[in-house]
Amino acid sequence: MKKVYIETMGCQMNKSDSERMYGMLSNFGYEETSEPKKADLLMVNTCSIRQLSEDKAYSLIGLWGKWKKTKPDLKIGFCGCVAQQKAKEIFKRANYVDFVLGTHKIYSLPEIIKKINEGEKVCECEETHQTEDNEAIKYDIQRVKSVNAWIPITEGCNNFCTYCIVPYTRGRERSRLPGTILKEVKDALNSGFKEITLLGQNVDSYGKDFKDRNYRLADLLKEINALEGKFRIRFVTSYPTDITDELIKTAVELDKVCEYFHIPMQSGDSDVLKAMNRRYDREKYFEIANKIRKMVPDVTITSDFIAGFPGETEEQFQNTLSAMEELELDYSNTAAYSPREKTVAAKWVDKYIDEDVKTERLARLNEQNRKCCLASNQKFVGREMEVLIENFENHNGKNVISGRTRNNKIVHIDCDKDLTGEFINVKITGSKTWYLTGKIL
Ligand code: SF4
Repeated sequence: MKKVYIETMGCQMNKSDSERMYGMLSNFGYEETSEPKKADLLMVNTCSIRQLSEDKAYSLIGLWGKWKKTKPDLKIGFCGCVAQQKAKEIFKRANYVDFVLGTHKIYSLPEIIKKINEGEKVCECEETHQTEDNEAIKYDIQRVKSVNAWIPITEGCNNFCTYCIVPYTRGRERSRLPGTILKEVKDALNSGFKEITLLGQNVDSYGKDFKDRNYRLADLLKEINALEGKFRIRFVTSYPTDITDELIKTAVELDKVCEYFHIPMQSGDSDVLKAMNRRYDREKYFEIANKIRKMVPDVTITSDFIAGFPGETEEQFQNTLSAMEELELDYSNTAAYSPREKTVAAKWVDKYIDEDVKTERLARLNEQNRKCCLASNQKFVGREMEVLIENFENHNGKNVISGRTRNNKIVHIDCDKDLTGEFINVKITGSKTWYLTGKIL
């Protein structure tokens, strides 16, 4: 069999795409290798959220291009978000690349492989306005061995936040068909996965684009929840104003849906939110988060924030720090603003914040995040919680299992037995900044 290696960068959506690509390639006589030097086909699945990640992708294929000099049959593919954006330009920059594959045409991979093996160079980056579900059904997915299966339910985004490249790389929002999603969920459960995470840039707007049916995220959750067996359901990422009361109620009623919401706020200042083209202000976000806290017992709410958005003043940045604190957020992903070509905010060069200031603000944001995480973790000490075990490792001579609670808290437990994939009841005995410690009951 020929060997394929895919270097995956960026978000869970890309990881999920790579699992699909591995699945398709296995039907064409390729087996996965973890050693790029042994591969006959090398692919990089790129991320364009930050310049750094894009630069890394180019330097990686630069290295692979050198290998080609001594291994002329080696094939190189440039895929994912940067491919979608730059398309044929990639060939100009790296003429040793054999194919460029954007995010919209993943299911043309088998056709591409045939063509490159006949010596053609191929670029498949046109935007499509439909899901590729009819194609998806033909191939098994080669999931990374884990307890958690990530299943995309929507692709793309219509929001056009002024800093974000996603609508340009992933296109307009398209919901996948319920039948295809349910098939993927059943397949994952039959293969032993214990947690299903439904994935989308705006997961709560699932189904808004269906013309032939009235079927939304709450309906999908109900169908998945009704499947037999013990497993958990999560859904990410939520856009604040798309979270309806019906969805929150459904999440509370369904026993398999976990008490966890990831709701990016991005800034705690209403004027910055307006400049970001987010469709809510500080007060609205507080209202939504507080409502969820009231309706969902033990819920954790996590978020994303950007430091140093163009034009952000010190006072506006302080509103972000205070929002994080007052909302008692359980964890936040943080990043300094990075301009992305094509986006509206990237053109506001005269409002760019100095790199030093951005770095300093990011450090303060991270410090506030650390305080919030520790405070959140401390609330659970003494509680009994169910943990789904994901790992078994030896830390400094001690065997430790670790996993997550329903509300997504990481728990480390001393244990000599590998219980990966099992649900166990644990007494929480301690809290650190990023995780809890516990004892098996
Ligand atoms: S909601 Fe905004 S930040 Fe999120 S993917 Fe869409 S455009 Fe990007």
